[in-house]
Amino acid sequence: MNRFFYSNTSTDEISFATVSKDSVSFSLAQIEQVARSLRVDLGLDDLRLFDVLRVIEIDLAKFVNDLSFVVVDDKELDDGVLALTTHDPLSIVVAESLYDLAFSRDENARFVLAHELGHVLLHDSERLEHCGIDQIDKAQRSNFELEANLFAEAFLMPAHLVRSMTATEISHSCGVSIVRAEERLARLKGEMLCKYISSFCEADAVANKAS
Ligand SMILES: [Zn+2]
Repeated sequence: MNRFFYSNTSTDEISFATVSKDSVSFSLAQIEQVARSLRVDLGLDDLRLFDVLRVIEIDLAKFVNDLSFVVVDDKELDDGVLALTTHDPLSIVVAESLYDLAFSRDENARFVLAHELGHVLLHDSERLEHCGIDQIDKAQRSNFELEANLFAEAFLMPAHLVRSMTATEISHSCGVSIVRAEERLARLKGEMLCKYISSFCEADAVANKAS
């Protein structure tokens, strides 16, 4: 059982608490459901636009124990790194510049925060290692990154609210970039499924080769 998140959503939806941490990868459906469950529990289910920063800084504490949110000087992070998630202690660390952008609801900053939230919820202390840490193999790392991106996509652009919209409408109403909105729509229509599946397969193939 996962220690992070308890879902009180309906029983026909998988709750995060039932997702085994032993599974190598989450399915797309599981990630969608984790994101949806969190939206429901946060009272965001009908909202297209919400304050991601507030969710992480304040609201998430009700569901995730011991999570701290730390803002650091950009220079304290490696070049090009604007945010990361650590598990010992469990913490989302963001560069000051990203925090400022997120505060003004910059669309890319919002996506990065949602991505880190995905790491917190999907990758517990045994599975989570961040991209910057070398101990985990490359394939597993890319799986984690992919899963965190899929979570961010589902959390910011829930299928039930965006399915019938255009990419431009999604971009404006959900506070995401047009590129992210187009990718989301394509995936909801099944057009990007192959791309994601092949990414997973590729990662698995690399992992098998390495072991
Ligand atoms: Zn990441």
